[in-house]
Amino acid sequence: MHIYVPNMYKQDIFKINYKKLKQKGIKYLIFDLDNTIALIDERKTPKKTKTLFDQLKKDFTVLIISNNTKKRVQEYSDQLEVDFISMAMKPFPKGFIQIKRKYKCEKKEMCMIGDQLMTDILSGNAYHIFTILVDPLGKKDLKITAINRWMERKVLVRLKKKNLFEKGSYYD
Ligand SMILES: [Mg+2]
Repeated sequence: MHIYVPNMYKQDIFKINYKKLKQKGIKYLIFDLDNTIALIDERKTPKKTKTLFDQLKKDFTVLIISNNTKKRVQEYSDQLEVDFISMAMKPFPKGFIQIKRKYKCEKKEMCMIGDQLMTDILSGNAYHIFTILVDPLGKKDLKITAINRWMERKVLVRLKKKNLFEKGSYYD
């Protein structure tokens, strides 16, 4: 069950302790898109998000990795002026392998940030990189996410029973 436990858990991307990540030697912040950075039907980047990303880019290489289509991911990534990987097939490590090759980085420098245990956290933990879970931005999910959320609810019950993880108990 430890494969589902994130290294850090925060309400949203604005609450993450990025200073701590930098001190840990993290150099690559890899964000999920839908319900992590943006609402699923949001096409224009809010100013607040743009400001955060501009700030982060001073200290990190920032990327977006999403299972969504190229059209969707590119439109959003272009506004934030960051590199992206679409159709990433998380929880498979395809996207991480591509990033590692392209940027010649080490696993210990990579950090995955996302709102789903079954894709973002599972993929990051299985690939042995630092993982951060955030609560989903909106209540609405993509249709394809329904099955993952159903599995996630079952996993959350087991994690809580084993005292490994509990929703709403945030930590660094
Ligand atoms: Mg997501």
